[in-house]
Amino acid sequence: MKMSHMHLKTLREVPNEAEIPSHILLLRSGMIVKLVSGVYGFMPMGWRSVRKIENIVREEMDAKGAEEIHMSAIQPAELWEESGRWNAYGPELWRIKDRNGRDFCLGPTHEEIFTDLIRNSISSYRQLPQNLYQIQTKYRDEARPRFGLIRSREFIMKDAYSFDKDPEGLDESYKQMYDAYTKIFKRCGLDARPVEADTGAIGGSNSHEFTALSEVGESEIAYCDHCKYAATTERAECVDATPQDEVAMKPMEKINTPGTKTIEEVCKYLDLDPIQTIKALLFVTYDEECKEKTGFVAAFVRGDRELNMIKLVNALGIGEHQIEFADEAEMSQATGCVGGFTGPVGLHDCTIVVDSELPGLKNLCAGACEENFHLLNVNYGRDYKGDIVADIKTLKEGDPCPVCGAPVKHTRGIEVGQVFKLGTKYSVPMHAVYADEQQKEHPIWMGCYGIGVTRTLAAVVEQNHDDNGIIWPVSVAPYHVEIVVMKAKDETQMALAQKMYDDLTAQGIEVMMDDRNERPGVKFKDADLLGIPVRITVGRLAGEGKVEYKLRREDEKTELTAEEAVKQAVELINAERRG
Ligand code: ATP
Ligand code: MG
Repeated sequence: MKMSHMHLKTLREVPNEAEIPSHILLLRSGMIVKLVSGVYGFMPMGWRSVRKIENIVREEMDAKGAEEIHMSAIQPAELWEESGRWNAYGPELWRIKDRNGRDFCLGPTHEEIFTDLIRNSISSYRQLPQNLYQIQTKYRDEARPRFGLIRSREFIMKDAYSFDKDPEGLDESYKQMYDAYTKIFKRCGLDARPVEADTGAIGGSNSHEFTALSEVGESEIAYCDHCKYAATTERAECVDATPQDEVAMKPMEKINTPGTKTIEEVCKYLDLDPIQTIKALLFVTYDEECKEKTGFVAAFVRGDRELNMIKLVNALGIGEHQIEFADEAEMSQATGCVGGFTGPVGLHDCTIVVDSELPGLKNLCAGACEENFHLLNVNYGRDYKGDIVADIKTLKEGDPCPVCGAPVKHTRGIEVGQVFKLGTKYSVPMHAVYADEQQKEHPIWMGCYGIGVTRTLAAVVEQNHDDNGIIWPVSVAPYHVEIVVMKAKDETQMALAQKMYDDLTAQGIEVMMDDRNERPGVKFKDADLLGIPVRITVGRLAGEGKVEYKLRREDEKTELTAEEAVKQAVELINAERRG
């Protein structure tokens, strides 16, 4: 493709709204354009890369015996009501009505649609297992669309669904998809790790996220160098402090602690360590539609711990959108809590959630539910009880690994894919069943497997760039080679460039040629920004049949004959194009 006729507009300035390298570079290189917040269009070069990622995904899915189909993005509300998610999914679900007032949504994911499809087409065990996938546009009305393609409201996802007779079959399908994902991300040039994950709004029992390591990633991962354990901090289990069974309970004592609203203040005032205290966090909950308040929640963790919101909502059995911090004045009237001085003793009319290690700890200090007072020697069982006792704390850096006990480390990453064992979560309510040899009915065991195709594109840029622009891995580069003609009006230069262009193209290499009437400086700047893996510059030495050869990922430039440059480019591209 000749750049003089390409639809391409690069930007010198950093767009205002862009904060992270992939967002900045994809906009600046003209690969994507923004329509409104969280909604982007793909320009020719960006779209070529998207299609390459899609093809890698396709090849690896097909290799596992999955079949591609294409379902509509428009989904009728009835199916979501059947699964119970019409309300449970919350405001992220993009709801629409047709002209007759019938409810639909723009699909954020397709479990209902595929379960419906399969219940209408499968009757016998002989038809199982099956695995169907699609590469399709998804819609989520994200609360905070940001980072360009990483958290957008319209994005391309590959979603696959497996259907098996039994849990063992599901285990095998899951393993196959896990394996396919490992290959897909490697081929895309990503350093991505599988980590144990929470199942979120999709549900099910078991899940892994594939996370591309990156400082700007929104997923926080806890991992252990010692035993290879890795999990999102949303999900990572914590090791409880050792129970103090041998310690005797002391009598509870109320003590004046003026103005000590935080754990830090009360510890300083009473000369305590935070591990001897109980921290309170207060919330209000709503029904699934977020219309009515359903009650108050007081969550308690040891003073040095951090509350984990995902674990808390899982313990409460509600969605993330159904909870927020309580208005203290309002909650105080209803439950007797006192901002800064709330403890588990004396609270009423609210759900008390106690972290799993607190019952084992003795003689702790907690708020007295009275302004300027704390209680000493508070003990579980004797002085307070939890309506729910569960692990609701976050695994922090340095905490013991839940598998081997070595201190864990934290890192950040971008979730590019996730695999779930759904089990019968959808097949039971939606009655997707098969008949066994004896004509007995059983629910179908399902798995689902997503890859954010456009988020993967952003993650590739995040991991492959420098200050000057993108450095595409060959496997997903929009073009393989860029020929830069220093002086497009010079016939000798153009003739040599055209010859190389034809030679490379004839050998299956994807080439673009900068034949614009621009200054060389502009062309080189654009070449760095666009990030094509091989750059061949045709300039002064064209008369002698010589060119300059440079890889985007290296600084070194070499002078080669045009033939040698073509040969080296072909070798490199062919070695790396499959990723
Ligand atoms: P997140 O936790 O980041 O919101 P999720 O867990 O809700 O993602 P899934 O339902 O597992 O996402 O969707 C499968 C894949 O789709 C994700 O792994 C991610 O790559 C991609 N994805 C999800 N939400 C978005 C989004 N708003 N923009 C772009 N890609 C997304
Ligand atoms: Mg996910």
